[in-house]
Amino acid sequence: MRVLVVEDEPKMAALIKRVLVAERHVVDVAPDGVSAVALAETGPHDVIVLDRGLPDIDGVTVMRLLKAKGVASPVLMLTALGSVDDRVAGLDAGADDYLAKPFAFSELLARIRALGRRPAPLADSRLTAGDIVLDELRHVAQVGDDTVDLSAREFALLGFFIRHANQVVTRQQILDQVWGAEPDVYSNVVDLYVSYLRRKLGELDRSDRLKTVRGVGYSLKTEA
Ligand code: CA
Repeated sequence: MRVLVVEDEPKMAALIKRVLVAERHVVDVAPDGVSAVALAETGPHDVIVLDRGLPDIDGVTVMRLLKAKGVASPVLMLTALGSVDDRVAGLDAGADDYLAKPFAFSELLARIRALGRRPAPLADSRLTAGDIVLDELRHVAQVGDDTVDLSAREFALLGFFIRHANQVVTRQQILDQVWGAEPDVYSNVVDLYVSYLRRKLGELDRSDRLKTVRGVGYSLKTEA
């Protein structure tokens, strides 16, 4: 699953990310409310883990902004405050679940799994770039009318490229976003997977969609 973690304490954010990546989730991290809203809008997340206490705008306000912008991802709100009033305020604002700090990571994972199992709105599950369509809900990739068989990692990588279509993305950005905090990652793993993706997309279409930007990284072009 793709999870957005909104947490301002760097140690806590890193810890949550590590635990989620170990469970094979793809993790985006936002350190404050404004960047959380911006990241949530860039692509559908299966679950958003939202800390209540943030340095700029509080979690309940973030929650309202997400709903106002049509972000449909389920939200698990975290709080240092365990009182009934806080729980009610979070749930009233549209949070789907609530977990008080300190919590056991096993419980966090179980709740994320439960939220991720809820069906996402169909309109939010499809990413497109040119004639490439990625249906994240059904885990199906298509180029034109042809279905492309992708591994989970290739799928996540192509999703990242589509979210940043026509932009240049660096190898480090790709590593951070698609591989996360996995310890045994070699720097050339990105190049390797890009070559896999090119081959799989190239079986159906000879045009070079995934351009190498020398010395920088890659760019997925949707127009010539
Ligand atoms: Ca906090």
